[in-house]
Amino acid sequence: MSRFDTFVVVDWSGGNDRGPTAKKDAIWACIARDGQVEGPVYQRNRQVAEDWLRDLVETEIAAGRRLLIGFDFPFGYSAGFCRALTGNDDPLALWDWIESRIEDAPKGNNRFDLAGEINRRIGNGRGPFWGNGLRRDIDGLPRNKANYANDFAERRACETLAKGSFSCWQLSGAGAVGSQVLMGVPVLARLRRQFSETVAVWPFEPLDTPVALVEIWPGLINPAVKQAEANGELRDAAQVRLLVRALSRLDPATLGELLAVDAPEEGWIMGLGHEERLMKAASTPIAPPPLRNDCFALPAGVAWTPVEDALDMLRTRLRPVTRTETIPLQDASGRVLAQDVIAARSNPPLPNSAVDGYGFAGGALEGPHVLPLIEGRAAAGVPFDGIVPAGHAIRILTGAAVPGGVDTVILEEDVTCDGRQIAFRGPLKSGANTRKAGEDVVAGDVALRAGREITAVDLALMSAVGVAHVPVRKRLRVAVLSTGDELVEPGEAVAAEQIFDANRPMLLSMARAFGFDPVDLGRVADDREALRDQLDAAAKSADVILTSGGASAGDEDHVSALLQQAGAMQEWRIAIKPGRPLALGLWHGVPVFGLPGNPVAAMVCTLVFARPAMSLLAGAAWREPQGFDVPAAFEKRKKPGRREYLRARMRDGRAEVFASEGSGRISGLSWADGLVEIGDGARHIRPGDTVRFIPYGGFGL
Ligand code: AMP
Ligand code: MG
Repeated sequence: MSRFDTFVVVDWSGGNDRGPTAKKDAIWACIARDGQVEGPVYQRNRQVAEDWLRDLVETEIAAGRRLLIGFDFPFGYSAGFCRALTGNDDPLALWDWIESRIEDAPKGNNRFDLAGEINRRIGNGRGPFWGNGLRRDIDGLPRNKANYANDFAERRACETLAKGSFSCWQLSGAGAVGSQVLMGVPVLARLRRQFSETVAVWPFEPLDTPVALVEIWPGLINPAVKQAEANGELRDAAQVRLLVRALSRLDPATLGELLAVDAPEEGWIMGLGHEERLMKAASTPIAPPPLRNDCFALPAGVAWTPVEDALDMLRTRLRPVTRTETIPLQDASGRVLAQDVIAARSNPPLPNSAVDGYGFAGGALEGPHVLPLIEGRAAAGVPFDGIVPAGHAIRILTGAAVPGGVDTVILEEDVTCDGRQIAFRGPLKSGANTRKAGEDVVAGDVALRAGREITAVDLALMSAVGVAHVPVRKRLRVAVLSTGDELVEPGEAVAAEQIFDANRPMLLSMARAFGFDPVDLGRVADDREALRDQLDAAAKSADVILTSGGASAGDEDHVSALLQQAGAMQEWRIAIKPGRPLALGLWHGVPVFGLPGNPVAAMVCTLVFARPAMSLLAGAAWREPQGFDVPAAFEKRKKPGRREYLRARMRDGRAEVFASEGSGRISGLSWADGLVEIGDGARHIRPGDTVRFIPYGGFGL
């Protein structure tokens, strides 16, 4: 049974609480559900992580999903250790043995004491554990390997094959894993006990229950992690993200192969010997899952669906359809962030001066002061290396790292200086005119969230926090197609009964303004076969299709007829004016917005429905149009129960509307600067009543 719905990778830690903001060397976890990798989660301590794991197991079991959780610490010790300590060879009995003796709290634990106790019991106080990381001595636990002795193998069998792995006997020092085992095993032992029927531990137990706990090691995909680090991602976050991505992308047969090992006592590192396959899986972008056929279905039996209900349905059913890629920062403007961007560096990285002036050790300085100046100065990019003695001052410039011995800077305009000393009058607060390290952004913090459309100012932020490459979505390709026998290309000869195609240039330009890639599919006559061919072509070259015209139920309404035949069409009867008819559907899995032919209605439906829907398809956040409540300069009566949009503009602080509401009056669109939105319930708007004005810019134009 090596098919799992959800994969989780946890980067464990043996240390103490790491504080509320995301940092390295804490616990990091990352989830992949149905192949979709979520953002890495920072856990400040083991207590938080244990609660999180328990909730996760409960949720996944309740949802009937199989779950594989990988932890990056050994599940067993070298052969013989188990028996020496507990009297039998069962590594899970050793888990319980350790669990019953480890005491753990956010600010301290007894792991070194327990290691000392074990060494005294079975190793004459000289091993197998070593690396006391505390200030106080611990009886039986050597600080280093000077007087060390170990009756057991220094490495487990799997570790002799894993280049760069550490011995589980080493409790301190960079990269040491020994403390993680002692502090991780108790948490897993409790999970096992609490979910005894559902949790199995690999490779000691058969994986025939819904939850598998598995030993993994990010060292197996180190080149991929290094690459992500070079792109500015925090190492711990990159490890869990890439490893969970790799695991979730292995097909069940391969996964089964990786899990088929025989290591009943020491355990094993999953994927060892299959590094290339893991690396490949870690770097394969996966196509997002297709949209569901019923994603545009409106509630049955409702004559006219309110706009808000229709929008809610789009909001809950649509998902990103674009793949991700990583591109250089300077190319990222206008693209959608595919993952959270984590600050690789604090801004500012060091405490520095906010002004040109003189630095010294402060304190609430009252009254007059004279301080001798020391030689040298601190400037931006050219720090002063020494320590400024107490009672002395140093010349310092804006952006300079604050030298040792300095915590306060006085503005040069506020002192008199003769070249040897400065004189000034207090009060001056300690810390004045300095910027603290990380006062803007702390390394490890989320600088920008996935789904954000990257702007020029975001490029400044990402640069400042050391991010040079950005994970983004490919641009959404939006195909635009006009339908109708009457249409002629602007500039071409036109018969009296024909009209120029006004919608296509407008819709292509709107798609570009929204940040998408417009794809011009031209015009099609009212001919079903020709339209079918065009839609087939569009489904190959685009992520979403906008058509205009032919969307209602008449003889020549071929868009709705074809979508209907394809079995994935919904006639949208929305309580909106202008806006009918609207046909939504999927053509070979590609969403189609069948917009009305009337240019005003095509425009309003695009702004109200297609734009927020396309935002989600593009991987961006849902977009509410940004409007303002303003007094009306007009009078209007309307039917309650439907929402109306009027072409409008602001004059003298009031919204005035275009004289005609005719849906073919294109000139009104240009006359206007935006739309007035009149709520479903309104009946009678009088001059001075409050109405909502949404400038075109509020719709992203
Ligand atoms: P239909 O939705 O196809 O019934 O078209 C409704 C109205 O919009 C008709 O008057 C069409 O001539 C007009 N129309 C359709 N497509 C366009 C277009 N691309 N440009 C300008 N007007 C159009
Ligand atoms: Mg038509």
